Order: sequence, then C-alpha cells, then structure tokens
Amino acid sequence: MTYTRRTFLAGAATAAGATTFLPYAAMAQDGMADTFPTAAGDITVHPVSHASFVMETPVGTIYCDPVGDPAAYADYPAPDLILITHEHGDHYNADTLGALAGEGTQLITNPAVYDMLPEAMQAMATSIGNGESAEWGGLTIDAIPAYNTTEDRLMFHPEGRDNGYVLHFDGFTVYISGDTEDIPEMRALEGIDLAFLCMNLPFTMTAEQAASAVQDFTPTYVYPYHYGGDGEGAQDPAAFAEMAGDATEVKMGAWY
Ligand code: ZN
Ligand code: ZN
Repeated sequence: MTYTRRTFLAGAATAAGATTFLPYAAMAQDGMADTFPTAAGDITVHPVSHASFVMETPVGTIYCDPVGDPAAYADYPAPDLILITHEHGDHYNADTLGALAGEGTQLITNPAVYDMLPEAMQAMATSIGNGESAEWGGLTIDAIPAYNTTEDRLMFHPEGRDNGYVLHFDGFTVYISGDTEDIPEMRALEGIDLAFLCMNLPFTMTAEQAASAVQDFTPTYVYPYHYGGDGEGAQDPAAFAEMAGDATEVKMGAWY
C-alpha cells in the first residue's frame, strides 16, 4: 500500500501546553493532506482544526464536526455529508453548518444535536444513537459510544449521549472517536484502517491512554487529533506517536 506523506508543520504544535492556534485562513491554505488508496478510489484527508476535518472520498465529500469560520472550508469541495459527533462548541456550530450546508447536503448527528438543529437543517438530517447505523450513498455509518468514565468528568460526555462513528467504505474502514475516554467499545473495534483519536484533559484522554488503546485495536493508520487544550490539558502528539506501537502508523495533521 502506498500513501503520500506530508511534512509535519514545524512549529504548529510544540510541546504539550504550547500549542499555537493559527488563523483559520492560514490553515485552509496549508495545502497539506494525506491520501489513502482504497478499492473504490482514494480517500484524501484534510485536517482543518482541532476536531474538524474534510474527507474527499469515492462516495462524496464528508465534513466531520465543522466549526469556526466557514472561510476555512473555502478550498474544499462542498459537503455531500456532514457528520456531527456531539453538541460541544468545538464540534457543533449551527452558524457554521448553515453557511456550509448546501442543496443536497445531508447531516448525520447524534440525537441530542438533532434536537438542537434549526428546523431547516433538521430537514436535511438523520439522527442515529449509540449502536445504530445509517446508510448514505452506499456507505454504512455506525454510531459508536463516546463518553467519560472518570467520576468527576462524567458530566462532560455522559454515556449514551454522544457519538463516535465507524464508516465502512469499500475495503476501507474509518473510525472517528469524537470525544471519549478510553472505553471498552473503542478497544473492541476490529478491522479499522484509519482512526481519528482524541486526546486532551479533562475532556477526553491522555496520550498514554490513547496509545494504549491503539495497541489494542491496532488501526493501520491513526491521526492524533483534538489534542490541544489549556495548559497541562494539552497532549503531545509526538509522545503519543512514540507510545503507539509498531502495528500502527501515526499520521500527523496540521490541526493547530
Ligand atoms: Zn466534547
Ligand atoms: Zn471536543
């Protein structure tokens, strides 16, 4: 299997706690992407910011948790499908969605976000909860649990409310963690080719926890994402990469 390799954006993310936030326009112009060949054609991943990214796929262009200035997405094809994992502001913004969603765009959200959507957007949306699946353009999308397990953090992501997603492309399976701690449902995943894995405190998990989980479900490729945060809460993606084990190739995206 071949793939393109891009150079890590020097200085974009330094040691934990020293993350630099670039203006959205600067990130949109970075031109950095990874391409993953699949049986049905290429999947190209464009990290946008923190938890937001764009995937160009053989079945259409998919945006995941797009938030922030819509201009950050101006260089990408319009979304055919938008996935929303949960209601937090770094994952869901009704104004951004309103600007990005066009004629023919469909949304898949967790039930709580579905209930919050403006009426016009609800008409484009399908709600799936943990353990449910949706079909879109020949793609099966599973909603995977995403929740906190540490007692004093349960209120951030209570079990049963928020989604991760598994996308079953033809011969290529993608896992998007959403915001979760190190949960058994993640460790039990099988056959994942590409994973997007969150890490930061107090909302999700440490780089150590994420690396330990990766050694369990061994995706072929993994992007650390959602690793920025305040002070000590930020996690170092390079430290994660060192701990992730030899079975998985760590991809570095220009998330910040
Ligand atoms: Zn969250
Ligand atoms: Zn988040």
